[in-house]
Amino acid sequence: MKPWKMKRTEKDALMSHGPRMEEVYNSIEIHHRITRGVHRDVETAIAVARKFNNEVLRPMYLERDLKHMEDHEFLSRDIIKKAGEWRFFTLFVPKLFGGQNLHFMALYPFIEEISSVCSGLGHLIFVHYLGAATVFPTMNMRVLQTIMRDVARSERRGEPHLIDLTITEPDAGSDAQEPLLINRGRMTSTMEKVKGGYILNSRKVFISNSRLSYWHLIHSWEDKNDRASSLTQFVIPNGTKGLSFGACEKKMGTLGSTADEVICEDVFVPDRWVSLRALDPFFKNSKKGSKWAVHSVMDFVVSASRAGVGAIGTGIARGAYEIAMDYARRKRVDGELLVNHQWAQIILTDMFRNVCMTRNVYMESVYADLLAGVFKVLYKKPIHYYMKFMPKWFFTLILPLLKSRLVTYIFRKYYYDWYTNEERNITSGWASFAKYTCSDFGLVNANMALDLMGADGLRHDAGAEKCFRDVKLQQIYESTNQVNQMNAFFCMVGNRHPEVEYFT
Ligand SMILES: Cc1cc2nc3c(=O)[nH]c(=O)nc-3n(C[C@H](O)[C@H](O)[C@H](O)COP(=O)(O)OP(=O)(O)OC[C@H]3O[C@@H](n4cnc5c(N)ncnc54)[C@H](O)[C@@H]3O)c2cc1C
Repeated sequence: MKPWKMKRTEKDALMSHGPRMEEVYNSIEIHHRITRGVHRDVETAIAVARKFNNEVLRPMYLERDLKHMEDHEFLSRDIIKKAGEWRFFTLFVPKLFGGQNLHFMALYPFIEEISSVCSGLGHLIFVHYLGAATVFPTMNMRVLQTIMRDVARSERRGEPHLIDLTITEPDAGSDAQEPLLINRGRMTSTMEKVKGGYILNSRKVFISNSRLSYWHLIHSWEDKNDRASSLTQFVIPNGTKGLSFGACEKKMGTLGSTADEVICEDVFVPDRWVSLRALDPFFKNSKKGSKWAVHSVMDFVVSASRAGVGAIGTGIARGAYEIAMDYARRKRVDGELLVNHQWAQIILTDMFRNVCMTRNVYMESVYADLLAGVFKVLYKKPIHYYMKFMPKWFFTLILPLLKSRLVTYIFRKYYYDWYTNEERNITSGWASFAKYTCSDFGLVNANMALDLMGADGLRHDAGAEKCFRDVKLQQIYESTNQVNQMNAFFCMVGNRHPEVEYFT
């Protein structure tokens, strides 16, 4: 008899004390669900990014960085066009919406690869997918398919229509994005119901890519006394009367993308372009209510995006490591190649370790998203195979069905009414871990590269100081790292202890 033999009930009790499998072993949980095709998609995405890096990015990214420094308002439209020719803005969009259909999991290693050379472009591409990932959880299939099909068409035409996400206001940053802080935020945007739509007035700041984007996803709140229950998401295309761009921020790094003010002055948004209204009777009258819906939708979005910030942070950590290694293989110190000094080998090993470690953290977050977050439906095997093997014409045929209210109703039931607190905490908690761990270690590696290279590291043409400038943003946006630590505490640490209070 095995000395540790136990009954199922005893095992279950032991498993529920301490971290549970589905909380902390996402990579094991996902293991038996990954199909060979997903594995191939990840490999393809990495290879495509490396080819692009070699052929397009490496020969020009430093020169372009200098150009942006001279003129902060310079827009990299030519790079966007090039990335569009490579179909980067639909690479991870399902066939259903006219995309290239690589699995969404592959987006993250792809972003790491691009960011290892130029995080400005990694950020630019990722923000576009963040826009897509913001419409997706509204489950407004009509709006989602209209936008994504337009993106696919415009990319084929050679003028990709990018998507941005517009939340931050002059007096509300982290607090506009954190469900637990929203009611304390000092947002000033207003929306007013009129016949056939809404009149929106808002001033948003620091909006990535906004001058480069066509579709703007703008968040506002219907009830200023309870914003945590009344989020509304508007979809506003370029050319809409009253929409304009204000100041363009003079940033230190991540210069390939802009950060601008987005201003809405008496913009009329027709009802059909309201992708989510938390006070809609569906949410308001549901068992869990509007507040739950707002918290969940915000967490669906940031869980997908913070894993992406993790991938960018890891890419920068890797870029810094590769630059330092390349330098150490060429530089002689005391007549010996730097790479053959033991102290330098220890530094380079730590840098490499940091990259491996942060990659594991952001991938854990991606797995959590696939198991229990916004992409969980795409990961159900029947749906995955269906999306993979049905021909494109089939999806064009079923599009009208997708636009029906019934489809939105079913998806909303699945994503909101049947969604659990545990699922939300695991995905949101891991996303915060990924965001602050990878960005902090990106900074550590950028520092180590500069230390190793001494004065040579400060030369622009060496690339290391660019890593340092670029990585700072990763610690700030998507709520600051400290606020992410608080969110991780809420989701993964404090939630076991009833006496704990948050943001007191
Ligand atoms: C280059 C750039 C691009 C951006 N792109 C976008 C975009 O595309 N879309 C968008 O909507 N926004 C964007 N942002 C805005 C970004 O999301 C916010 O800057 C971020 O959420 C932080 O908000 P904040 O700057 O107001 O800082 P705050 O949230 O005000 O934080 C200031 C300081 O206070 C601390 N702090 C805040 N709240 C707490 C708390 N409750 N407890 C303890 N400490 C706290 C923070 O850690 C930080 O140190 C971008 C910002 C930058 C810089």
